[in-house]
Amino acid sequence: MKSNPFNNIRIPLRLRLFLPVSLIIITVVTIMTIWSINTSINAFNEQIENNLKLEVQTISKMFERESMLKLKNVQTNLKVANHQFYSYDLRILSSTVPIEVENQKTGVTHTTRVKEWVHNGKKLLGNTELVDNLFEQLGGTITIFQKIDSGYVRVATNVLKDDGNRAIGTYIPNDSPVVESINKGERYFGRAYVVNDWYTTAYEPVLYNNEVVGMIYVGDKEKDLAELKRLLYTLKIGKSGYPFVFDRSGHMIIHPTMEGDTWDDPFFQSQIENYKEALFPLHYNSKDKTIAFKYFERFELFIAASIVKNIENRELIRKSIIGASAVGVIAILFLLGFLYFFTTDKLYRYFTALQISNKKLASAEIALKQSEKLATMGQISAGIAHELNNPLGVITMYSNIILEELDKDNPMVQDVELIVEQANRCKNIVGGLLNFARKSKMKPQEVDINEFVNRSLESVVVPSNVKTEVTSSVDDPLIMIDTEQMMQVFTNLEKNAIEAMPNGGNLTINISGTERDVIIGFSDSGTGIAEENLDKLFTPFFTTKEMGKGTGLGLPLVYGIVKMHKGKIEIDTNTDINKGQTGTTFTLTIPRVS
Ligand code: ADP
Ligand code: MG
Repeated sequence: MKSNPFNNIRIPLRLRLFLPVSLIIITVVTIMTIWSINTSINAFNEQIENNLKLEVQTISKMFERESMLKLKNVQTNLKVANHQFYSYDLRILSSTVPIEVENQKTGVTHTTRVKEWVHNGKKLLGNTELVDNLFEQLGGTITIFQKIDSGYVRVATNVLKDDGNRAIGTYIPNDSPVVESINKGERYFGRAYVVNDWYTTAYEPVLYNNEVVGMIYVGDKEKDLAELKRLLYTLKIGKSGYPFVFDRSGHMIIHPTMEGDTWDDPFFQSQIENYKEALFPLHYNSKDKTIAFKYFERFELFIAASIVKNIENRELIRKSIIGASAVGVIAILFLLGFLYFFTTDKLYRYFTALQISNKKLASAEIALKQSEKLATMGQISAGIAHELNNPLGVITMYSNIILEELDKDNPMVQDVELIVEQANRCKNIVGGLLNFARKSKMKPQEVDINEFVNRSLESVVVPSNVKTEVTSSVDDPLIMIDTEQMMQVFTNLEKNAIEAMPNGGNLTINISGTERDVIIGFSDSGTGIAEENLDKLFTPFFTTKEMGKGTGLGLPLVYGIVKMHKGKIEIDTNTDINKGQTGTTFTLTIPRVS
């Protein structure tokens, strides 16, 4: 309805400010979120790799500890075995018996002779009682060796050969570091290859008449895999990771699912040859895995740990997205709230203020042009009116005299009457023109505005298809105005309204007021005023009405008179039926005292 395009802008302007800024914030927060997820993934991947390496290190430590424990255990066992051995009487007979001996390394056999040992009253060669008793107490392997010229031969043992028989008769050859120590009368601790596996071992020389005649051995298989398995099975890395152990040939020694299988990945196998410790991405079982491994020399095993990065990342992304989105949404809401209530509000006020001042400037400019126009008009009109007034006076006067002197039935009467009428009309126009010239001449009078409006309506011709209505909500109806001039204003606005409703309609005059002003709105349900005509309305002689009907002097006159009263005119109009009822409202705001 409003003629000013800025008047409708309240919500759109706010939105126009709010939307782009919101979009920027949302975009920035989203980018930051994605960026932070990305960086956390990178950091997380690094973390995964570190964790894998760490895991492998930890398991290595575990293995080391295991072998340390074994050694300690074996040392204690040796003491016990020694004690047991010496708590019985040992006699070495001077007679010898033949024995077939076998080099445990080369498998070569030969026959030699050994002195007979009698321990606890029983022959020791082939004796099982002593070692089996010890085994029951200590576990592991126990052997009593007797010295021969080629090394030390087992005479009583629970160590078994591959064929399942006791390894009696096998001997440790002289080139072994064990023999070296024992011959010097020293104990030997360490690893030893016993028959078919590595053992953590302890050897102690057996002295007879201050001479080394043999040795006692206790040992335990170096790796207690059952125990290590139990430990390793409980370890898990992230969601998808686990540790495992395999040997040089890819045989899975400890593995949650593939134990006993052989791992045939040629790429990985080739890598194993090159590195003792490494970290690799590996495609295996149609999964992209990351594997860290380390060679554990003592056990001749590879300790490894693997993880499926994608699964871990997915988990991380899921968690990060939930976390980041929550934070993001809160941030966005917070920022938007802040923005909406503070920034846009300020911006909005700034823009509105700008628009208002622009509008004021524009209307000031229009007003200036208008008064310039009117000033020129006033001068010209005053001149013309003044020049015309006298001849018109003469015409009126003489035509009236002629009219009086003529008989009533004289056929000239009608013609002269027409002259009088038209001369009066000319006087009216001239009078109208003189209004511009009489700008500063005002005769203010106090009137009741309600009464005045009704009076103005009585002096215009209202067609039967136009309904008029006057509504008033003014508390104090009194106002100081030049009644004669203001009557012209009111009747002109009423006439224009009626003329804008050729097919009938409603003319509503609404009177309201403030302490300072009286406000009179003239609303019609007519055609409305086209946008392009709005700034021409107050231009003298601007009319859209057909020749002879409109003079285009009505609104300029209205403007001049309202300005003289220090009032203002506002126009609301709508020409578009789609936007609602068409029509125009001219609103006058007149100060009570001008
Ligand atoms: P005139 O009435 O002689 O045309 P005015 O100065 O009174 O001259 O009005 C100028 C023009 O303004 C009119 O021709 C008309 O186009 C437009 N106008 C004025 N009042 C209205 C109105 N209430 N509704 C529609 N148009 C109007
Ligand atoms: Mg008019």
